[in-house]
Amino acid sequence: MFITSTGLTDHGISPQRQAPAVVRHSFGYSNMNNQLKNISICDECNSEYYSDTSQMTRLCPECSHVLYGYENCQHEFANGRCIKCFWNGNSSDYIKGLKEKQQKKSERILYVVDFFRTKYGATNILINDHWESDAEATGLTDRSGQFLAYISTISGKDNNYYLALENPSTDNQLPYSPAGEFDNLILEELESLLTKHLKLAD
Ligand SMILES: [Zn+2]
Ligand SMILES: [Zn+2]
Repeated sequence: MFITSTGLTDHGISPQRQAPAVVRHSFGYSNMNNQLKNISICDECNSEYYSDTSQMTRLCPECSHVLYGYENCQHEFANGRCIKCFWNGNSSDYIKGLKEKQQKKSERILYVVDFFRTKYGATNILINDHWESDAEATGLTDRSGQFLAYISTISGKDNNYYLALENPSTDNQLPYSPAGEFDNLILEELESLLTKHLKLAD
């Protein structure tokens, strides 16, 4: 039996010839593709994804989009995986529920929610929807979840909003206490009231 200089027994594969190839491979990998190929596991859907395709560290692009409004990957599926972000297309039951709820919302209400979350940051405006069956309304809170704003586009007119504000409860009976109701607001008025209530800076 032949013992190589590395001390490994030769079983027909030469460790001496293989070793440089492995080293060369890992160098190329870390220099060129490491960032692209770094794979993380999503906390929400448990799918693997390429770390650098998501703006959140523990969520894939899909889940970070649905949960926090971050930019999603424009998925392209081949052999059961997105070739861009490596997501496997699975969603948790929670995410599936959220997607279904979003699909039931009107264009008008989706537009106004998207407007605020894009402008002030999705992590600063959380969706807290107690009105799932109402396509023209939704609830938003500040990031602490303490200050709630109920927005409705029920009038059916463009740029016409109803807003109800609620502060944290002062007793333990109800989660929130009323802090003002406003009707027939245009977007600028809605924005001014909402940013004050949710303590959002421009
Ligand atoms: Zn995910
Ligand atoms: Zn993707």
